[in-house]
Parts: sequence; structure tokens; C-alpha cells
Amino acid sequence: MTVVRDVPKQLFIGGTWQDAESARTLSVDNPATGEELCQVADASPADGQRAVDAAVAAQAAWAATAPRVRSEILRRAYDLIIERTEVLALLMTLEMGKPLAEARAEVAYGAEFFRWFSEEAVRIDGGLTTAPDGRNRLLVTRQPVGPCLLITPWNFPLAMGTRKIGPALAAGCTVVLKPAPQTPLTSLALAAILTEAGLPAGVLNIVTTTDAAGVVEPLLRGGQIRKLSFTGSTAVGRILLAQCADTVIRTSMELGGNAPLIVFEDADLDTAVEGTMVAKMRNMGESCCAANRIYVHTSVAREFAARLTTRMAALRVGPGTEPGTDVGPLIDATARSKAHDLVQDAVKHGATVLTGGELPTGPGCFYPPTVLAGLTPEAAINDTEIFGPVAALVTFDTEDQAVTAANDTEFGLASYLFTQNLDRALRVADRLESGMIGLNTGLVSNPAAPFGGIKQSGLGREGGRVGIDEFLEYKYIAVPVGA
Ligand code: ADP
Repeated sequence: MTVVRDVPKQLFIGGTWQDAESARTLSVDNPATGEELCQVADASPADGQRAVDAAVAAQAAWAATAPRVRSEILRRAYDLIIERTEVLALLMTLEMGKPLAEARAEVAYGAEFFRWFSEEAVRIDGGLTTAPDGRNRLLVTRQPVGPCLLITPWNFPLAMGTRKIGPALAAGCTVVLKPAPQTPLTSLALAAILTEAGLPAGVLNIVTTTDAAGVVEPLLRGGQIRKLSFTGSTAVGRILLAQCADTVIRTSMELGGNAPLIVFEDADLDTAVEGTMVAKMRNMGESCCAANRIYVHTSVAREFAARLTTRMAALRVGPGTEPGTDVGPLIDATARSKAHDLVQDAVKHGATVLTGGELPTGPGCFYPPTVLAGLTPEAAINDTEIFGPVAALVTFDTEDQAVTAANDTEFGLASYLFTQNLDRALRVADRLESGMIGLNTGLVSNPAAPFGGIKQSGLGREGGRVGIDEFLEYKYIAVPVGA
């Protein structure tokens, strides 16, 4: 495949492409076939340290680069990403599995973080106020936090990178990006694009590795990194927070979810079914915002389940590169076994399979769109992120029951609710314990919105007006004005 051949396969450090010091490489596989696509450099802790040294060396000059210049580099990179939509989409489909149509949508979404933050780079504000005593002026400025470590997952190979790189660069921070080992190619292609857009050497460094723990921990303990922005599982997030505590590193954490989706009896059922399809099936369910538990009012449960089952059963499963594919493979065999185990566990505890639920034979990590009705409280799905194309339905009778069940989780990333009653919509939205709520929609992601969770789903927000704040410090200068 030319798109794979054309991507750099080395580490990107200080503006040059380099092999790992050990010359080791890691294998990037196509989850639709199980075959290897290529090998890329597999960094050691020493390589990681060189990347951090390069970011530290470039920090002062990048912070001093005019905001307009930083902005225009991001804007040029946006244009280049859009221009190369087909190449980037195909790369993502090959290394991650999502259907091409979804990969193209991710290119548009991911690129938008660069355009958005190119606009924010020139709007970093400060303040000048008079202290209550009238004698002091309080001058407040903003400064980049310093060299950042960015760690991203495999499910949105482009957007998870641009969502962190965009605001960091806009704020004047240099970065080391450690993408997931399953999907390094998109990040490497992105580095080439940013270089073409004029990004100076050392501002962005990329370290691909199979030894995430071994490479990352010394970097966090080394005292040079000032900020960690992580997207991944809550389990790994907890480990990284503990490591950051020792050197008091600022963190942004986008962690796991367990999104409830509630369909009230006064919902428009067409909208609810459509919204559930998006909230459940976008990215094959491999999204931290994916609807994990679907609560449907008893009076509409049968009708809703029938319509959802018809839609799910009609989806075409296959390689993402084939036209007409709706559902690609899951990322790997472990992900597929996890989804299947959760289905079997739910059935053991009383749920009924309305469609799907069978492990396919043949190559690739495919799993059929599955609908489970009558999920019981004992089923593991209630407190486990499925990360697969499995819709688990539960019925409820009262609004209070639905909200209580929805909030019965340590997570708080996204929730969805479907109702035509505005009072109810606002009342329930107020009570749902999550950072984001889809009201009559199954899609909450938007570069202009503050994306993030509460409870154990994370700390901080990405995107929106506040996204850049995560990479800025306040500096306050006291200015006496005399008697
Ligand atoms: P997922 O289950 O989606 O792969 P993870 O939290 O395991 O989620 O991985 C998200 C990112 O964190 C990936 O880039 C992965 O390589 C990285 N990672 C995993 N474990 C660690 C660790 N102990 N320290 C630093 N990064 C890690």
C-alpha cells in the first residue's frame, strides 16, 4: 500500500527522523486481516529522554514565537490535513479498522482542532484590575506551562493527537507525543504535515514504543516535563496521576466512561433510535463516550427494542476499506473477547440476545452488532466499559429510577437523554453526573465544546474556549500606584 509505504517509520526527535537507539521496531497490524502493515521504531527510555531534551531545548524560542506565527502554522497544517483527507482516512482505516466513511469524518473532526486553536492562539488574554484597596494594580498575564507529554489512545488516531497538539502549540508549549502502539502511523504522518506547515525543529517530537510504562515514568519523574495530557483508561490514568504527584506536574486526564442513555416515554422514537445508533455504533462502539447502558421507559421498551434491533441487524460488518461497510473490526483479539465475554455474562444473568452475540469465525477481529434486552443489575456490563458494538437495554418506570441508575457508576463522562419535554430535559440534565450530555442527540464531540468528564472520568477539558487554558499558567504582577 503506498499510503503505508509513504509514512515515515522512525522516531521524530528535534526535527529529524531517527531510528530507535536499539534499532528495535514494533509491528503495526491491520485488525481487519491480522496481517502486518509495517514496522515502526520501538523507542527505549533513552529515546524518550532524547525527545524530552529536544522539547526542552525548543521551549524558549517557541514560547517567544509570535502568536500569529504559531497560529498560521496550525492553520496551514489544517489546510494540509484537509487536502490529504483520503490518505489520512485510509491510514486510519488500515491501522485501526474503522470504516472509511468514519475515518473521513475523523479527518474533518481532527483537523478542526488545528483550525480552532489557530484562532485561539491569537486570543490569549490577561487582565488589569484595581485591587480593592485602590492602591495596587493587578496585572495578569498568561504564559505557556512548558514542555508537555501527550499520551494518546488508538481509537481516534488523528483527533486524539490534534486535540492535544493544537492547544499546546497554540499556547506556546513544546511537546512529546506518545501515540498508542497499535496506531502510530497517523501520528507520524501528522508530524510530517506539521513540518511541511513550517513547525520549527523540536516543537513536536514523537516517540512510538511498546514499552509505554518504561518510557513514560522516568520522563514524568525527571523534572523537565511540566504538563501531562493523557487520554486512555482510568486504570492507567490513576498510575500516571500518582507519578505526576511526585513532581507536581499539571495534568489533563480524559479517562474511561460508562455512558447511560435514557429514552423517556415522551421521546420521539425515531430520534431516539437514530441517536442511540450514533451513541452506540460510532467507531464500532470503541469510544469513551459510547452509550454503555441504555435505559428505556417500560411503555416504549418493546417498540424501541424492535426498531433498534432492525437497525443493528441491517448493519454491514466487514473490512473498513470495503465500500458499504458500516462496522469494521475491533482493534484486536483481546477487545473482541472482552465484548463477547460481557455478552455471555449478561445472558448468564438473564439478558436476552435480540440480534448478534455470536463470535464469527475467520480472520480479523470482527464482532456482530448485538442487542441485549433485559440487562439485570448483576451483569458486568453495568460497570464495565464495553468498547464494542453491543447495546444493552434495561427498562425503567420512573424518572427518579432512571436517573439513580444512570448515576450509579464511578464514571461521569457522557450521558444521553431523549425526551420532548423541555422541563424534564433540563431537570434530568441537571441531575445527571457527567461532564457532557447529549440531549436528543447521540453525538457530543465538537472541537468548539469543552470535552471532558467528572468523577473518575477525568480532570480538565479539551476543546472549546477552555481547551487552551490547560496549557497556560497565570502570572500576576503586583503594581503599586503610589499614595
Ligand atoms: P486502552 O485500553 O485504550 O489501550 P490504555 O490506557 O491502556 O488504554 O492506553 C492509552 C495510552 O496510554 C496508550 O498510548 C498506551 O500505550 C499508554 N499507556 C498504557 N500504559 C501506560 C503506562 N503505564 N504509562 C504510560 N502510558 C501508558
